[in-house]
Amino acid sequence: MKKLISLYLLLLLSAFSVPGYGQKVTVLGGQKDGSSPQNRRREAPLDLLIVGATIVTMNEKREVLENGSIGIRNGEIVMIGDKVNLAGMLTRRTINAAGKVIIPGLINTHTHIPMVLFRGIADDMDLNEWLTKYIFPAEAKNVDEQFVRAGTRLGLAEMIRGGTTTYADMYYYEDAIADETKRAGVRGVLGETMIDFPVPDNKTWEAAMAYTERFVKKWQGDPLIVPALAPHAPYTVSTEHLQAVRRMSDRLNAPVLIHVAETKKERDDILAQKGATPMKYLDNIGFLGPRVIAAHTIWITDEEIDIMNRHGVGSGHCPQSNMKLAAGAAPIPAMLAKDTAVGLGTDGAASNNDLNMWEEMDSAAKLHKVVTGDPKVATAMQMLEMATIRAARALDLEKITGSIEIGKRADIAIVDMNALHQTPMFNVYSHLVYATKAADVSTVIINGRVVMLNRRLLTLNESVIKKDANLYRKKIIKSLAN
Ligand SMILES: [Zn+2]
Repeated sequence: MKKLISLYLLLLLSAFSVPGYGQKVTVLGGQKDGSSPQNRRREAPLDLLIVGATIVTMNEKREVLENGSIGIRNGEIVMIGDKVNLAGMLTRRTINAAGKVIIPGLINTHTHIPMVLFRGIADDMDLNEWLTKYIFPAEAKNVDEQFVRAGTRLGLAEMIRGGTTTYADMYYYEDAIADETKRAGVRGVLGETMIDFPVPDNKTWEAAMAYTERFVKKWQGDPLIVPALAPHAPYTVSTEHLQAVRRMSDRLNAPVLIHVAETKKERDDILAQKGATPMKYLDNIGFLGPRVIAAHTIWITDEEIDIMNRHGVGSGHCPQSNMKLAAGAAPIPAMLAKDTAVGLGTDGAASNNDLNMWEEMDSAAKLHKVVTGDPKVATAMQMLEMATIRAARALDLEKITGSIEIGKRADIAIVDMNALHQTPMFNVYSHLVYATKAADVSTVIINGRVVMLNRRLLTLNESVIKKDANLYRKKIIKSLAN
């Protein structure tokens, strides 16, 4: 009887230790060439070996490995396995992640990183009032290259702390943003904003086109930075200019970031002026293609989702910003049902007010349950997908990041799982989306480089960043008083 009880307990325990939604825990194959552990001492040593963690791979089978290890060489994931499987490997450095969970680094598909310096400048108003009374004047009076650099460093530090390893950005002086991003060791799809009125860095459309071309040519081929074109939106850039952007994108083979259908007003105005709703209008003028990544896509029809899918257009869904500005809720359940490449994003910190992807996963799940009245939509697994592999697809980076797989770049977040708010754990996906906080991320690796170790930033100076940001606070307050 005693034996039976303990057998029962063992079964019960093992049932609860299965981390996925009924997913089988499997050990993935070790090395590409399948050499035996005995032969491994002759191979080039690993640069980094992470051992002992639960690995949430987000690979095609969504496999989860218990007590797994990851071997990294030259910035690439070269081995995934368990302790036995990687026994005998020589390594320059080992990180013991026992008791922790490893996930692919999170991907923020839409932000305006330097806007962290405007965090909390104006809240609780509609987009039009917020933009015209606060954001545009504050930008006109404060944004220069030094501002952008200080804001970027602050935003990068915040993102690394929360396990974000890749982000897509649209702002001014994007060349300076690329410079700071590369220095901090973060991956970025960085788009220079192009708009039909004078902005801080470029005073004319021609100047913006020339700047963008120089910027794209300078950064193309960089291991971390993907330079992009970022026409602001269909209501701020003319048809001719949007078509010119498309031609430049074709010629330079560069992504295009744009806001589309963020507000009902935009949808109604474009429909009245152009005779078609925003996504359809962009299709009509020949703007859409696989390199386009459209942020928000809230006010789109079912037919427009099909148009996006036909062209391979990616989307960046920003639930917290959309809720805060009462912009609406994007049709995410429909987009997921049609397998659209839609990822999550924070938007700029002035409308959020942070760059925390954990909150976006949690908010997105709850927003779409409320909107549809169906708790079965926007599952924890789907939300983690939208912050990792589906986001990578949206940014056309799925071959190099978004999952933990052999041959991909090593973009990894190691997450502590022993906080009170994470205790006890039954299901790892549920915990990652509904219980884990950004502050639970302990170590972050991007392109094989450790950028945060045990909560200590290694590529950015946190105290200097905070000091600079507070100096800008004073300057911004003074500028708005005049
Ligand atoms: Zn935006």
